[in-house]
Amino acid sequence: MAHAESVLIKNVHLYGEGEATDVLVRDGVIETIAADQEFDGVVVEGEGGVLLPGLVDMHVHLREPGREDTETIATGSAAAANGGFTAVFTMANTQPVMDQPVIAEAVWHKGQDIGLCDVYPVGSITKGLEGKELTEFGMMARSDAKVRMFSDDGKCVDNPLLMRRAIEYAKGLDVLLAQHCEDPRLTEGAVAHEGEIAARLGLRGWPRVAEESIVARDALLCRDYGNRMHICHASTEGTVELLRWAKDQGIPLSAEVTPHHLLLTDERLETYDGVNRVNPPLREHKDTLALRDALLEGVIDCVATDHAPHGSEEKCCEFENARPGMLGLETSLAIIAQIFVESGLADWRFVAKVMSERPAELLKLKDHGRPIAEGEPANLTIVSSKENWKVAGEKLASKAANTPYEGMDFDTKVKATILRGRVTSSNGVPAQARTS
Ligand SMILES: [Zn+2]
Repeated sequence: MAHAESVLIKNVHLYGEGEATDVLVRDGVIETIAADQEFDGVVVEGEGGVLLPGLVDMHVHLREPGREDTETIATGSAAAANGGFTAVFTMANTQPVMDQPVIAEAVWHKGQDIGLCDVYPVGSITKGLEGKELTEFGMMARSDAKVRMFSDDGKCVDNPLLMRRAIEYAKGLDVLLAQHCEDPRLTEGAVAHEGEIAARLGLRGWPRVAEESIVARDALLCRDYGNRMHICHASTEGTVELLRWAKDQGIPLSAEVTPHHLLLTDERLETYDGVNRVNPPLREHKDTLALRDALLEGVIDCVATDHAPHGSEEKCCEFENARPGMLGLETSLAIIAQIFVESGLADWRFVAKVMSERPAELLKLKDHGRPIAEGEPANLTIVSSKENWKVAGEKLASKAANTPYEGMDFDTKVKATILRGRVTSSNGVPAQARTS
């Protein structure tokens, strides 16, 4: 069973609002919220920072089993704790693929043993990610891992009949299907957003229509075969329009957006640096603006990092040969705060919604994304909004260093993360794993 601990959090503003107060957590549950409390156990000094519900990331790659040279459940959990996360969903494209209960259970138990973050395994939709035969959703959903999301992320389930069958199967189990939208025939050999810059640099282009055609098709499948579905890493203005249409029709289609698609553009290609290669690719300025508006309006539901660690030999090579993917866990809150809070576009309640409450709701988590209130589980993040820091890949807790934000300055930093009353990260230093 999960461990639960006690802690007193001093001097924080709940959701960045009102007077500073103290939060006493006993045995993993918020017991008392009131100023000037005392406690003879662990005390965390919030220094007037912001208290948020622990962040939830529904899209990460922790690479274990199979690529422990780039990330492990232990190092990924440490990176998650440093980034303010108390729950993450790790994608199925491991080696072997997470297409059976035994693999999902091993990942779940290991995450619980390490104890720095709740690590939920995502089952694959098709066996071996081959796009041919569905996996046993039911067996994985009923396993110890209680798999609640299925995705072939990295690959698109492009066969429409197979996707229809997956939607029908998922419906009976009330699990979420998450689609990586990319028609593979339109992106063969593509390495960068199809546009002026890729054309000038001689890079093969990944057109927006490859994403949008699958979003449109899946919205219609979802409408006709009636189950909820989720769009991974929306990246284009057209996808936003399709999501808006689907939501107006009452189609239960949700979507996420990554911090990098909200902040960075294909102008980054000019450097030819493989760190900027990601799938879907960095788009144009107008796409980032449409994605920001969509998140503000709720057309896009939440932020997910798509944290994708790679070794340096996979990134420091010719752009065409670099593996797609970027780190995200330890920088996402700073980026979202910069774009939305520091600019005045939104408040901390919005951050709590898109980085914790909404993803927890989509995945039906009972202990995460909950209100900060007495009697609620103590999964919490303390944030300082006045702490200038510079990103350095080498200093991150992740085993990999492929951050596209190297050398960038941010003003928001996670001060501490608390999982069921246990401090899992403090001032950028992750707690010891219970086991490793
Ligand atoms: Zn993907």
